[in-house]
Amino acid sequence: QSVDVTLFLHRIVDRFEMIAEDKEIQFVRKISKKPMYVKMAPDKMTQVIDNVISNAMKYSPEGGNITVALLEQGHQLQISISDQGMGIPRESQSKIFDRFYRVDKARARSVGGTGLGLAIAKELIHAHQGEIWARSEYGKGTTIFITLPFLEIKEGEE
Ligand code: ATP
Ligand code: MG
Repeated sequence: QSVDVTLFLHRIVDRFEMIAEDKEIQFVRKISKKPMYVKMAPDKMTQVIDNVISNAMKYSPEGGNITVALLEQGHQLQISISDQGMGIPRESQSKIFDRFYRVDKARARSVGGTGLGLAIAKELIHAHQGEIWARSEYGKGTTIFITLPFLEIKEGEE
């Protein structure tokens, strides 16, 4: 199925803005006006983005901005979701995509979750021929990057 990712992301952020109303979280959108199509299973991709945004909220106890950005990079689309939360220590940054891995068990236990969200996200993104990775500064915030192959739709095709 080919999906306009700009609209797709706006809808997800709209939904989270409603949930986040009482939290001190502000969403910032850096999403172009021009439609951008990718081949994706929208329900599965929703699961991925939902988990990444839920993490950004869960691990930003003091609030702050969550920035959802969409960039075109040659033959790829890059989605990034950045928060100003507690961050992830360098040695854990690759492990967070492992099943059941949670940074700092005590801290994680109080927030709730199984440690499966990002492992599932990684599988789903790989099934879409994409990549997912994290860049984080401990104590300052985290950005999760997702790339997906870009599918340009010619006039009249859609
Ligand atoms: P689940 O998603 O299954 O409910 P979870 O959120 O703990 O549980 P993952 O989404 O796989 O599991 O994330 C794994 C771990 O990575 C988290 O427990 C947390 O320690 C760390 N993590 C993920 N995202 C962030 C973030 N934005 N900021 C800080 N730590 C994060
Ligand atoms: Mg999670």
